[in-house]
Amino acid sequence: MAAPDLVNLSGLMDDAKCFAFVRQHRWPEGVHCLGCASPAVVRAGCDDTQPARQRYRCKACASRFDDLTDTVLAGHHQPLRVWVLCLYFMGLNLSNGRGSVRLLWRKKRLGV
Ligand SMILES: [Zn+2]
Repeated sequence: MAAPDLVNLSGLMDDAKCFAFVRQHRWPEGVHCLGCASPAVVRAGCDDTQPARQRYRCKACASRFDDLTDTVLAGHHQPLRVWVLCLYFMGLNLSNGRGSVRLLWRKKRLGV
């Protein structure tokens, strides 16, 4: 029987799949605005250097953000797949709120 939190490592080696993975865990109920939490968000193209990194625009407050905005994964030159694999090998649970990427995002937003 497979563990429910098992991550398929080969699937994480593709940039598009890595961004989809992060997106799924960051916004499990769909993308919400980082400024006002509105679900009225539209896609607004992709990053110039990372084509799999989706940009968004909030229809409620007009703020713009992308898959990694305000995360510990933003602003690094290493490909996202390197960070995702590092987090995995560090033993962080990427699938729920305890000790997870989601917790790291909260810490980043709080400046902790
Ligand atoms: Zn907004």
